[in-house]
Amino acid sequence: MLARKPGHRRYLTCGDCRMSEKPQVSSCERCVAAGEAQMNKRNYQKELDRTLDAVKRSRLSGGAPPRLLLHACCAPCSSYVLEYLSAYFEITVFYYNPNIYPPQEYGKRVAEEKRLIGEMPFDNPVHFLEGAYVPEDFYQAVKGLENEPEGGARCRKCFRLRLSEAARQAAAGGYDYYTTSLSISPLKDADVLNELGEELGREYGVMWLNSDFKKRDGYKRSIQLSEQYGLYRQNYCGCVFSVRDDSRKAADMPDIPTM
Ligand code: SF4
Repeated sequence: MLARKPGHRRYLTCGDCRMSEKPQVSSCERCVAAGEAQMNKRNYQKELDRTLDAVKRSRLSGGAPPRLLLHACCAPCSSYVLEYLSAYFEITVFYYNPNIYPPQEYGKRVAEEKRLIGEMPFDNPVHFLEGAYVPEDFYQAVKGLENEPEGGARCRKCFRLRLSEAARQAAAGGYDYYTTSLSISPLKDADVLNELGEELGREYGVMWLNSDFKKRDGYKRSIQLSEQYGLYRQNYCGCVFSVRDDSRKAADMPDIPTM
């Protein structure tokens, strides 16, 4: 969070000025850039609000609910998103996650996703579509980035792989929008996801639904819903590298392959 310091009447302070014993003058170029970046930061929740208002108006004048392809990473993350968005859209949950290791874990997560859809009440119909589970596609996509930390360049490639397939499916199926439940995680950067989603939406010719589902206590609500439905909540992101990098998790999974 940027803060104001004495001498900075017009600009928010950059990291250097914030740490400095002697506040700098308001013409510090880095302060200007930092302040502008903060002011230009997009608010994806507000953008989603505007889209939902437009959908609501269209429904009031007799329009059918728009169709949304929701890429889902797991049942706990999609629980809040489904509760929130099913009032506006006819949703198809698209489960495409070739990153998940091992296959038994994949099976567990997909079964929980289906169970949740079967048990939750929805205002509009919610359907389920499973993508191909081909772990080799993930390993190819992240080749050379195996040792990147979680949240780094490997994750960006992983997001791109999953969102590309979601965009392709959404365009082929004539959906009005597509999006992902991934932004609900406090560990996932909504800027990266929305930038990728928009780029791939342009490429495939389908509208990306901007969102940052961790806002408005979305993550907290997903925990409540997980408890309510007794959902399995995994303790690692999904890929073999996210297990390997945490020795406590790796201890529970002794047969992790070395890459
Ligand atoms: S840590 Fe998660 S987001 Fe990153 S590459 Fe692994 S599965 Fe994908």
